[in-house]
Amino acid sequence: MLSQVVELIENKQRFAITSHIRPDGDGLGSALGLYWLLQSLHKEVEIILRDAVPHSYMQLPGAEHIRVTPHIDRPYDAIFVIECSDITRPGLVGLEKEFVVNIDHHATSALFGSVNWIDATASAVGEMIYNLCKAIGGRITKDIAECVYTALVTDTGSFHYSNTTERTFKVASELVKAGAKPAKVAQHVYNCYPWAKIKLLGEVISTVRRDDSGRVAWLRQTIEMQERTGANEEDGDGFVNVPLSAEEVQAVAFLKESEPGIYRTSLRSKGDINVARIAEKFGGGGHRNAAGCTLRGTWDEAEGKIVRMLKDTIEARNGNGNGNGTDPSTNGH
Ligand code: 5GP
Ligand code: MN
Repeated sequence: MLSQVVELIENKQRFAITSHIRPDGDGLGSALGLYWLLQSLHKEVEIILRDAVPHSYMQLPGAEHIRVTPHIDRPYDAIFVIECSDITRPGLVGLEKEFVVNIDHHATSALFGSVNWIDATASAVGEMIYNLCKAIGGRITKDIAECVYTALVTDTGSFHYSNTTERTFKVASELVKAGAKPAKVAQHVYNCYPWAKIKLLGEVISTVRRDDSGRVAWLRQTIEMQERTGANEEDGDGFVNVPLSAEEVQAVAFLKESEPGIYRTSLRSKGDINVARIAEKFGGGGHRNAAGCTLRGTWDEAEGKIVRMLKDTIEARNGNGNGNGTDPSTNGH
């Protein structure tokens, strides 16, 4: 819990911070917010990640100091693990031998740390980092504010999702007061895409299909599309949300071929359609309305499996009619 984290920071000196593979805005923004907080307290700290920082987040203050490594290769007093459902999610060899501080807002997070601070009411881990700053009596510097604000914006889908609360806006307001610039953050995160992403979007969107009820949609990104458009795997991020913007669509599966026969799959839903439960059945996880997993087989097999599950879940929830009995909000990451 929070008080244990405060005590630990006060009593130890050498820290590392990490987050999950394919880091996102909350993982990076929260890790960097914590990095700047620990710096301001004159602690030794570095961020280590298995995967490189995506293009959209390279402008975050401190992103250039992040070290990419597949294993723990230096001694630390404690390692903060941000936004990870289990100890394998950071993809760092040797992590299980360390003194781990698990900080997460996933309700299903395993208590894998020596210290575990889980707050499922927080819209983003960024909100928790803000609370930590306050609890420790640290000043919210401009760098902290910008990083933590980015975490909030990305994990709430720009304050659209149902995890957005009054508290989210209060924290966001404090962060803007401390120097975060909403337009600048939005510009970097949402308006700095490579042109290849736009071309890839065209190809991916042309594959979209939906079931007879119109409530389940799915789309695919093949390795060939990536190569043809000069895009990378990360450029497909966010595409899953496009079909969800159709009124009647209640759940979407987006399958990205990472190797032949292996598909990184993003699931999104509206209201109380729980896609985290479906992702867990395939060894993945996430939140009620935003989850992910890896599928295997031919395209038809993989799509068939996931679409059937989504249809069954929606039918069990809504009956077979076309009624939309759920609220239209969606949850964040
Ligand atoms: P995305 O579709 O954006 O990759 O992921 C959506 C949400 O699901 C995020 O909260 C992410 O952390 C979670 N998620 C995605 N893939 C996995 C996975 O393989 N395992 C777990 N535990 N969570 C995942
Ligand atoms: Mn998050």
